[in-house]
Amino acid sequence: MLCRELNRGKCKTYLVACEETRAALLIDPVKDKVERYLAVLAYLRCTLELVVDTHTHADHRTGAWDLRALTDAQVVMHRRAPAPDVDRHVEDGDRIALGRLVLGVLYTPGHTPDGISLYAGDRVFTGDTLLIHGTGRADFAGGDPGAQYDSITQRLFVLPDETLVLPAHDYRGHSQSTIGEERRCNPRLVGRSRDAYVALMNDLGLPLPENIQEALQANQSAIEDASISFPSLAQLSQVRQLTPHEVHARMASASPPFLLDVREPEEFRGELGHVAGSVLVPLRELPAQTDRLGAARDRDVIVVCRAGVRSATAAAILTGSGFERVWNLKGGMLDWNDARLPVER
Ligand code: FE
Repeated sequence: MLCRELNRGKCKTYLVACEETRAALLIDPVKDKVERYLAVLAYLRCTLELVVDTHTHADHRTGAWDLRALTDAQVVMHRRAPAPDVDRHVEDGDRIALGRLVLGVLYTPGHTPDGISLYAGDRVFTGDTLLIHGTGRADFAGGDPGAQYDSITQRLFVLPDETLVLPAHDYRGHSQSTIGEERRCNPRLVGRSRDAYVALMNDLGLPLPENIQEALQANQSAIEDASISFPSLAQLSQVRQLTPHEVHARMASASPPFLLDVREPEEFRGELGHVAGSVLVPLRELPAQTDRLGAARDRDVIVVCRAGVRSATAAAILTGSGFERVWNLKGGMLDWNDARLPVER
């Protein structure tokens, strides 16, 4: 296995390739460095087959879409990833073939709901779930410190002690560690119960990263142009949420809500289907279409997408343009399907 870190900075991008077939995979590429990656791939005579984002990043724009547009590579993410245009959704236990190599997918949420780690025998790529002598923050973008504790202790710390740990970030100049070292020495985890870890993570008081709208929401929606001005985190946090069962109950009431689906047309028709009677207006078209939705202004509006993330953005945009009764379908069509509620295809 050929394995290199390509950024030489705090933010890590790994190239993994099969030495026999030269099939290559990039883990967590950064948009600004796509040309460097393509040059290194050419230099190493590798063919980029797959691009994996270990989670939806908040601190930089992903290079996944550009790499897919410039090569034949497919984009791979966990099924909870909110963005459209993911070619292959993976879940815990899935295997990713790369030439003669096989990488195992571990579902390791907590930093975000869509976090995965990739296990390749002697090493594990841990995203921002487990860092070297640290852990990724879990205080926004759907983060959940309890889930993160479980991911680390039950999915990562059970790997062999000598497994190399290769995280998506390092702020202190470390380049690698091992599972055994982290289990024994990681200061966030050693001697802490799950409750104590949750309390610690909820009390970190870190400032929000700069440009969070530009990076996080652009990555969540795969909208990179200026067609949308994204709402602020404060506006997003005010969006009211309804569970799939609550939405289903409201649909049967005397004044049923207006259901607005903001996914792409392929998703609306795709494997997750859509809720009967919902109206499709893709997120990127929503700001120009709010007038057309005038009749819905006097009704309850429930916004729907894949994972409940793009729809939260849409709900905040509608609120900002004068819609007063707007709710978000929490967990989107993923949770709707998981709840086995009726779907139209
Ligand atoms: Fe991250």
